[in-house]
Amino acid sequence: MGLTDIRERVAKAEAKAGRPEGSVELIAVSKVQPIERVEAVLEQGHRLFGENKVQEAQGKWPALKERFEGVAVHLIGPLQTNKARQAMELFSAIHAVDRPKLANTLARLAQEMGHCPDLFVQVNTGEEPQKAGILPADADAFIKEVRGLDLPLKGLMCIPPVEETPSLHFALLAKIAERNGLEGLSMGMSSDFEQAISLGATHVRVGSAIFGERDYG
Ligand SMILES: *Cc1c(COP(=O)(O)O)cnc(C)c1O
Repeated sequence: MGLTDIRERVAKAEAKAGRPEGSVELIAVSKVQPIERVEAVLEQGHRLFGENKVQEAQGKWPALKERFEGVAVHLIGPLQTNKARQAMELFSAIHAVDRPKLANTLARLAQEMGHCPDLFVQVNTGEEPQKAGILPADADAFIKEVRGLDLPLKGLMCIPPVEETPSLHFALLAKIAERNGLEGLSMGMSSDFEQAISLGATHVRVGSAIFGERDYG
């Protein structure tokens, strides 16, 4: 547990998969964590973080970015169109693009603002009704649509169903990415990031294994 340990495990998993060291980006998921824990990880030199809510991130990161140089924050949770502008100002990547309405809004704002974060399309690989993401069968068409809007599409993202073997979902995501010529794969969390790396993850999203359990109380 802790940043140093997770960094080592990421490096080992890269080596084991025959992938270059540093080819996987470690996103430290800081949602809900007390600010002292986040500061401690920043003080250890880590600079890439993930948040799943725009409002929560807005309340914490502008101030931290002033104190620590070179910080980047990725939005890994769902995005409502009415928060898209705020999200595009705050985050350097958005991992959960999952519907045409959102893609269209991002495209319009990108024109207006003259920049756009890196985008990932979320695929609902488990076809869970309560989960965000485009269905696997609709993924190719949606990817094409996003590209047609001239948006900086970097890759795909998934969150496997809790009760299923994650590697099946990682493999499916990798397959969809490959046939669409996409390099980015945002997959793998505290309990399965090594498997995700072995299946090609370029971005792993690790929260509790770095910071400790989240206290939602
Ligand atoms: C919270 C969260 C994570 C991190 O989960 P851990 O199990 O704490 O590593 C990763 N991805 C998403 C989308 C999340 O919301």
